[in-house]
Amino acid sequence: NLSTIYFVTPTYPRREQVPELTRLAYTLLHVPRLHWIVANDHNACNPYLDTLLNRFGIPYTHLASPMPQRFHKAESKPRGVANRRAAMQWLRQHNITTGVLYFGDDDNTYDLKLFSEIRDTKHVSMFPVGLIANYGISGPVVCKGKVIGFLDSWVAGRRWPVDMAGFAVSLSYMAEHPNASMPYKPGYEEDYFLRSIGLTLDMIEPKGSNCTEILVWHTQTKNHERTMVKLNHEYLDDRSN
Ligand code: UDP
Ligand code: MN
Repeated sequence: NLSTIYFVTPTYPRREQVPELTRLAYTLLHVPRLHWIVANDHNACNPYLDTLLNRFGIPYTHLASPMPQRFHKAESKPRGVANRRAAMQWLRQHNITTGVLYFGDDDNTYDLKLFSEIRDTKHVSMFPVGLIANYGISGPVVCKGKVIGFLDSWVAGRRWPVDMAGFAVSLSYMAEHPNASMPYKPGYEEDYFLRSIGLTLDMIEPKGSNCTEILVWHTQTKNHERTMVKLNHEYLDDRSN
């Protein structure tokens, strides 16, 4: 009797969207009892995305969750926040108070062991994330089976200096915190979210053999938009010469 994992994926329209979601889908297809919440940064549900998601045969919910207009010109954008907020609202509206919530971006890389590890999360489980910033890793420091601190190359005054992919939350625990929220504050989404659910250090369940294993990586796909723009400019320059 496995509990359901609600895997929340923020995504946005760009050239890499279909390959990213395809790669991710073929990982998720190996996972039993998983509900995929795909929240697209777009003003409506794209039929092309529905067609793609339907083909995989994974139980899913497709949400349209555009980033508010006021952030479009910000130099540092709250990436994926409107998406995750929409997913949390959907879970609340459907009164889903059992199972496990995990925020899994469309470009990360997931070991299948991650899913069996987080499935029995009682309150909040945590584990290291590979390929984060300078140190190349971000994660809890564990002593005698308890989390006593964190290793992260950008602490920046955060109480919970962890990556979005480095924790999972039980939905029955979340239900006790109806004010759970994620701020539009780049860099501080995880910290404020974990504060909003009243997290305490002794509550954290370390996963992956006491956080010694890396089961998720913050991989990033090269964005070719800039290259394309440059090529286009070169093409226009050539024409005017
Ligand atoms: N994302 C989004 N809208 C955007 C930029 C990003 O919905 O304008 C999504 C993206 O698909 C990913 C998450 O938000 O799942 C985090 O974005 P990204 O991977 O670009 O950020 P990074 O991992 O570099 O912090
Ligand atoms: Mn990413």
